[in-house]
Order: sequence, then structure tokens, then C-alpha cells
Amino acid sequence: MTANLSYQWLGPAIFVSAGVAFLLLYWHDHKQLAALRLAGAYFVSLIGFMAVMLVDEASPAGFQLITLASLFFGHFLLVWGVASLFRQKFPRLAFGLALVVTSGAIIYANLASSAFSLRYTAVCGFIILVDLICCRLVWRARSHRVDIVVAAVFLVQAMITLNRIVQINLSEVDLSTRSAFIKSHFASSMQTENAIFAIVIGLALFARYSVTLVMRLSRLAETDPLTGLFNRRAFEAKVPAMRTSAAPLPTGLIICDIDHFKRVNDTYGHDVGDTVLKTVAQLLQNVAGDGAICARLGGEEFCILLPDSNGEMTRLTAARLRVAIEMQQMVSSGRKFGLTGSFGYCELAPGDDLRVAMARADAAVYQAKADGRNLVRSAPAILAVTHPAEASDRVVGQSG
Ligand code: GH3
Ligand code: MG
Ligand code: MG
Repeated sequence: MTANLSYQWLGPAIFVSAGVAFLLLYWHDHKQLAALRLAGAYFVSLIGFMAVMLVDEASPAGFQLITLASLFFGHFLLVWGVASLFRQKFPRLAFGLALVVTSGAIIYANLASSAFSLRYTAVCGFIILVDLICCRLVWRARSHRVDIVVAAVFLVQAMITLNRIVQINLSEVDLSTRSAFIKSHFASSMQTENAIFAIVIGLALFARYSVTLVMRLSRLAETDPLTGLFNRRAFEAKVPAMRTSAAPLPTGLIICDIDHFKRVNDTYGHDVGDTVLKTVAQLLQNVAGDGAICARLGGEEFCILLPDSNGEMTRLTAARLRVAIEMQQMVSSGRKFGLTGSFGYCELAPGDDLRVAMARADAAVYQAKADGRNLVRSAPAILAVTHPAEASDRVVGQSG
């Protein structure tokens, strides 16, 4: 008795746990509306799940209405939750069609007093359609391996439900009434499968949520909040992959420092200074191109890594960047002002140390400043350093 009871309540416990888990997610971050919709889907579906479980005699009045309302509204919330989790539009047409076809079949079955199996087939058909709609939504929006798993879970549930319809219609068991169905092994296997899928879908969607949150956090951790460019740490982390894919070709490194930026702050205010930084960041990114990695190293200093670029190609890009900044007109309270930047660059052979190269490019920026600013200078060929960390302090020589 106890074992039976605990087994019976396992399904509802799963629905409640999944609903609470999504609700907690929403509680933690009220922007997660998808989590609220998915929590709603679980709680609303729980009503139908319990109703099927508790009522095992001839259907009382209103029972069918409650289970159908729970089925339709629960699945509506599921599709809505999945669509918003994957940043897709709610598939109104597909869901509306599924709803109309199913309702039509159920009304027909009731009016014609057909065998219960027809109503059951209609309900299962609806679940299959919803699973396929969700599968398609996820598949179209997939951006991570976990999305393929989520789509597969929906597809598998659709296939198992289809198999159940086939089994029921081929079965010799008397399924002419609802109470006959409830007593059959189909009802218990259906409830078990529903409970299992409730948790599998919940876990899959939760895994998707975790991926979204981790991706958002890592984006935040690697982005400079003002300009949206990579920060220094992210730059240093991204560079090796680009260098490896460019090898044996060299990559080009450019460092840019805005000239007399302190004066901009002092003359026009810090906010205008911030706007200048954002404008320059955008310019650098646009001119350097999609393949380049652009970062804000700090303050008014930027760094760009160009794929497949030798020294001359890097110099040309730096020259284009310099002109782009020089041509940029800034306006503050009706007053126009211009900008310039000083550039240092070097070629990075596959075996070169990035930190040493950055120190060399930095030394070239220093040289451009010393030569009068708004200039491009190539890095000194040799640095008299023994340790990369000391490179920026101990620079000798200047070539080009
Ligand atoms: P130089 O031509 O020699 O590079 O002179 P500079 O004025 O550009 O360089 P300096 O290092 O003297 O000044 C950099 C200024 O950048 C000082 C600092 O207040 C300002 N700054 C650093 N970060 C930010 C920021 O995020 N926003 C704004 N508005 N200013 C910043
Ligand atoms: Mg500086
Ligand atoms: Mg500066």
C-alpha cells in the first residue's frame, strides 16, 4: 500500500518539483519570463495529471472540461516558454491549428458517442503536434550542443506518443469507455511515460537555461562594459586560437592610444570622454573588419589583432585606423572637435610571445607620441628583456 502510494505520487511530485525549480529561477531573476511560463506549464499540467489519476469511475460532470483545459493551457504555456527561452516568436498558426483539429475531433467524438479510444487518440495527437512544434522551435534556434538534446527529447516524446496511439488502436483490450481505459495497462504506462518525460524535458530545458546563463556570464566577464569590446583578459585568451588557425602565416598586432584624451575629459566632461571611447571603439572595429579581435586594454588604449597579416599589411591597417580617427568629428553641446590617435604595430610570427609583442607595440606607441602624435610607428625589433612581464619597462631600439 505504502509502496503503491509513493509510486502513484511520484508523477505529481515530479511536476511540482519541476514547476518549483522554474519558479525559483524566475524568483531569482524576474527577467526570466520563459522560466515563469515553464513553471506555469508544469503546474497547469499537474491538474490534468492528477485528474486522470484520481478519477477512475465514470467521468463526473466537468471532469473532461478540466482535463482538456489543463491539457490545452499547459501545453500552450510549454510552447510559449520554449519559444521565449529560445528567443523565437510564439508559433500561433501551428499551435492554433493543433488546437482546432484536436477540439474538433473531441467534439465530434462526444457528439457521435464514439469509443473512448477516439478521444484518446485526439488528445495524444495534440501532444504529438505540440512536441513537434517545440522540436522545430528548438532545432531552428539551436546554438549549442545541448539544444540538439532538447530537440531530440521532444522528438522522442512525439514518437513514443505516436507508438502509444498505434498500440491502443491495435489492441484487443476493451477501450470503449474512459473507465475501461483507466483500468487497462495503457493508463498506467501513459502516466509513467508522462511523468518520465515531464522530468526529462524539465532537465533538458534546465540544462539549456544553465548554458544561457553561463554564456551570459562569460560574455560579461570578457567584455568591457563601456565600449562592448573584449577586455585585456579576454583578448589574451582569444588570441592563441586565432594565431593557431593563421599559422604558418603571421598575425598583425596594433596598439592605439588616443592623443591628449585627458584634455577631452577636462574640456568637455567625463561623459563626452566616454562617448569618445565608444566612438573610437566602434571605428576600430569597423575599419579592422570582422576577422580582427579588438579589445580595450584600459583607459584610452586599444589593441587589435589581425589574422593572416604580415608587417606591411598591419602597417596599412594601422594607417587606415589612424585616418579614420582623424576624420571623425565629435560634437559636444554644439561645439565640434576632432581626435587623433598614436599607433604602434608589429608582426607576430607563430612562435612569438604575445606579451613581448604587446610590449614592443607599446614601445612603438610611445615612439609615435614622442615623434609628435597622430602617427603610426613600427615596433622595435629587439627588446632587451629577460622576462615578458618586464618588457614594457625595458625597451631598447626602434626600427621603421
Ligand atoms: P597622451 O596623448 O600622452 O596619451 O595623453 P592622454 O591625455 O591621452 O593620456 P593620459 O594617460 O595623461 O590620460 C588618460 C586619461 O584617460 C586620464 C583618465 O582620466 C582618462 N580615462 C581613463 N579611463 C577613462 C574612462 O573610462 N572614461 C573617461 N571619460 N576617461 C577615462
Ligand atoms: Mg594612455
Ligand atoms: Mg592617450
